[in-house]
Amino acid sequence: MKVETKCLHAGYEPKNGEPRALPIYQSTTYKYDSTEFVGQLFDLTAEGHMYSRISNPTVDAVEKKIAALEGGVGALCTTSGQAATFIALLNLLESGDHMVTSSTIYGGTVNLFSITLKKFGIDVTFVDPDADEDELNKAFRPNTKAMFGEIMANPAMNVLDIEKFARVAHAHEVPLLIDNTFATPYLCRPFEFGADIIIHSTTKYLDGHALQPGGVIVDSGKFNWNNGKFPGLTTPDASYHGIIYTESFKESAYITKARVQLMRDLGCYPSAHSAFLLNLGLETLAVRMDKHCANGQIVAEFLKEQPDVEFIHYPGLSDDTYHALKEKYLPKGCSGVISFSIKGGRERAAAFIDHLKLVSLEVHVADIRTCVLHPASSTHRQLSDEQLVNAGITPGLIRLSCGIEHADDILNDLKNAFAAIA
Ligand SMILES: *Cc1c(COP(=O)(O)O)cnc(C)c1O
Repeated sequence: MKVETKCLHAGYEPKNGEPRALPIYQSTTYKYDSTEFVGQLFDLTAEGHMYSRISNPTVDAVEKKIAALEGGVGALCTTSGQAATFIALLNLLESGDHMVTSSTIYGGTVNLFSITLKKFGIDVTFVDPDADEDELNKAFRPNTKAMFGEIMANPAMNVLDIEKFARVAHAHEVPLLIDNTFATPYLCRPFEFGADIIIHSTTKYLDGHALQPGGVIVDSGKFNWNNGKFPGLTTPDASYHGIIYTESFKESAYITKARVQLMRDLGCYPSAHSAFLLNLGLETLAVRMDKHCANGQIVAEFLKEQPDVEFIHYPGLSDDTYHALKEKYLPKGCSGVISFSIKGGRERAAAFIDHLKLVSLEVHVADIRTCVLHPASSTHRQLSDEQLVNAGITPGLIRLSCGIEHADDILNDLKNAFAAIA
């Protein structure tokens, strides 16, 4: 099946007389015929649902759909993108371990890596994603257990060279984890370029309608964990009287451990109703993404010509720094997210936003409705103008996320706002 078809049909195949739409199994528990079977469930030797902190039939269907979309062996949904990133890494790293990450990643992930993981005894080195392989290799240490990057990151909208990162990670026998939130599996499937684990904030395009936070981890099933670096996967787990994940679950070892061990212990599993809503978003992902990309391209080309715009980042523009990487990794389009800077700094950018009527001011991105954010007066408010520039954010920078309205209406709103600050 092609991606468009999987969006609708993967994960849930009703049998004769069963509901056509994915049912909401609103139940915390499941009923069994024998204590023997329950014993097998707890030994992880029988398949089935134990408790809705670990799995649920509605969530399971959505996990199977997302795994199919990315081309992985399994997926685990979480209640936020942050929880997905945290569990994806905690499944590999312990106190005393180290990881390497691209420095151009989501701001919340920077906090998680540089402050919270440190408290768990995990050290993180940030690298320039555009550095050459020799430079990237230097960041690795004997205790490095993972490499992390983001397909397209705010505000630079830089496209990651996934194959380069995968070569470097694999040369050090560690997996490459990719945050594929902005691309979605419709625009890019990082496993095809060597990534080993994918995470998403489903809060963004996968849900698409700004209804609820969510996240997901997807396992390619291809990484060889038996290299001495990942005892959590290759030595007995005392909490399941000595099970060894790589022996019992083979290519699904990583995603099984994430679920039965970390989700069991940390408990951030979505409800059936949340999964049902996420599934509604997934069903239309392909048609929405085409429109987001088309609008993004039209709006970026308009903004580029505006005398009030000092620069614009959108890899779909032929003269963008990342256009060649966009053509390779995102041939169908590079989402609806654009960042651009208005001449005249903070006040002028704020005035521009305040004059928008259709386009709404939100702390959000990748929504079905066009929205906008001014980092200097919101998420990066505490920083001085000089600190902003060091963070790659100019005082006049605006992040615009094109929705699926008619492009003319978005353009008219932008034109009116430019006229109002002229
Ligand atoms: C929003 C976002 C996250 C965090 O996800 P939440 O669902 O908000 O926890 C992670 N990565 C990227 C690229 C994001 O845009």
